[in-house]
Amino acid sequence: MPRSKLLQKQQALAKINELVQNCQKCPLYKTAIQGVPGEGNPNADIFFVGEAPGRNEDIQGRPFVGASGKFLDELISLIGLKREDVFIGNMVKHRPPGNRDPEPNELHACTPWLEKQLEIIQPKLIVTLGRFGMAYFLGTGFTISQVHGQPKRRKGQVVLPMYHPAAALYRGQLKDVMRADFKKIPKLLKLIKEDA
Ligand code: URA
Repeated sequence: MPRSKLLQKQQALAKINELVQNCQKCPLYKTAIQGVPGEGNPNADIFFVGEAPGRNEDIQGRPFVGASGKFLDELISLIGLKREDVFIGNMVKHRPPGNRDPEPNELHACTPWLEKQLEIIQPKLIVTLGRFGMAYFLGTGFTISQVHGQPKRRKGQVVLPMYHPAAALYRGQLKDVMRADFKKIPKLLKLIKEDA
């Protein structure tokens, strides 16, 4: 990719970050310290979509920096990558108070930011972490336990639903399930690239 294209992407993402910091489309900005737009490689092949910032993320302004982020880092390194190689974002960019689930109006208000990030980055693979990302990209009507680790097509993109790393911290046996799902990523990416 030419340097100028990379620069364009960086600038477009920086603009989104600024708009997210000033976003008042739902009430979450009132209780959060700051927006957490997401971060990573503007040319990432893989875009991870979590749920919403928690306390540590709200304090630092960065996604997945708490306990579940530590496990996510481990999973990313399992496939030979670093955080800087991928993009990590969330369905909702401001922390819901007390880490409650994001509400439908909050998801509805916030997902246009995610769509803009996807449009700029154009990842080959979207990995959803948890049920909110899964429902948004793949619809409702099934549970993560039924579809985790199974890639699906969505508008010409490939979506791989996964458990949320926090779920694996509560239910230890899910750690190995998540590790096994992550190990499918390199082969899947290779297939997607060959198919392009
Ligand atoms: N959980 C999420 O879903 N996102 C974060 O950024 C941190 C924890």
